[in-house]
Amino acid sequence: MADLLKLNDIKTWFSNGQRPYHIFGPCSAESPEQLRKTASEIHQNFKNVVFRAGVWKPRTRPNSFEGVGAEALKWMQEIKQEFGFKIATEVADYQHVESCLKAGVDILWIGARTTVNPFSVQSIADSLKGIDIPVFVKNPINPDLALWIGALERINKAGIDKLGAIHRGFHMTDNGPYRNFPNWNLAIQLKATFPDLPIICDPSHISGKPELIPYIAQKSIDLDMDGLMIETHYNPSVALSDKQQQLTPNQLHNLINNLKPKRKTSSNIDFKTQLDDLREQIDRIDNDIIERLAERMSLAKRIGDNKEKNGITVFQVERWQKILNRTLKNGKALGLNDKFIFDFLNSIHDESIRQQTTDHLSE
Ligand code: PEP
Ligand code: MN
Repeated sequence: MADLLKLNDIKTWFSNGQRPYHIFGPCSAESPEQLRKTASEIHQNFKNVVFRAGVWKPRTRPNSFEGVGAEALKWMQEIKQEFGFKIATEVADYQHVESCLKAGVDILWIGARTTVNPFSVQSIADSLKGIDIPVFVKNPINPDLALWIGALERINKAGIDKLGAIHRGFHMTDNGPYRNFPNWNLAIQLKATFPDLPIICDPSHISGKPELIPYIAQKSIDLDMDGLMIETHYNPSVALSDKQQQLTPNQLHNLINNLKPKRKTSSNIDFKTQLDDLREQIDRIDNDIIERLAERMSLAKRIGDNKEKNGITVFQVERWQKILNRTLKNGKALGLNDKFIFDFLNSIHDESIRQQTTDHLSE
């Protein structure tokens, strides 16, 4: 279990206290003109957003565009002055932090390729001691919640209390239609661990293409995430990085307009009564499931004792296959998803085996 983070209320400084928190802007800062054109088109529809641009770009291969470097921070400052946007950029080491602080960058974020490395994160954390600046930590590339939490804790321990997380998807062996598989469950677990930590969704890096962005953005709202980071370029077709996934400011405007906001609660009495009733039923079923699982485990233990007395192996593949086939068939007939049933049974079976073996190991 993670220690609680010491957090300051981020709402008081982010977009004038309004949720959702929006961070829009190009993947990379390419030129003063590119930044200005993009910022000015975004500004036509959004006044209170944070403007993002990558100044140092962590790229998979060395010969791709690796960002303009510190020079682009001057251009970012100009955007801040001209349009009144707060500005945000990615930092990957302590020198980046130093340059950003000098240039008046308002928000720093740690990228997915940096979060994976505790040495890098610690070195950034050390350089932030005594500084009051909001920092967002993107999830690591691999689906490792502890690594994500560890990075947040390192930054928080350095005294940064305006802290947030960015969910940008995970690289899996099979990413399905996504560039990075969303694995919503990990973001939900992060929220459950730190209920006050804002989590922003980055549908651009999850989707990798514009078509999927609206679906991912809406899903993040349905899951009560706190905002969106969306890559936006005045002309994505000439972008020097991530050109396939950036939206034009106009597409961005349409996207945001078409999202359906969701509330946490409602004052509608019928809705509330029905919700309470359904939740009560679910609570009862959860209790039944737990009781039945406990009964199942104690039967498994008795079988384990018998097997031990008779010198029989704990794991019996034919029996296990029979259970799987029967339950998958029944589950399917009841409209339950195969993978869900499979994972559920596997987890029960793992625990049965553990119960049947650990007792005897400790004897
Ligand atoms: C980015 O935001 O442009 C970026 C490099 O993101 P990530 O660290 O999520 O890959
Ligand atoms: Mn990018």
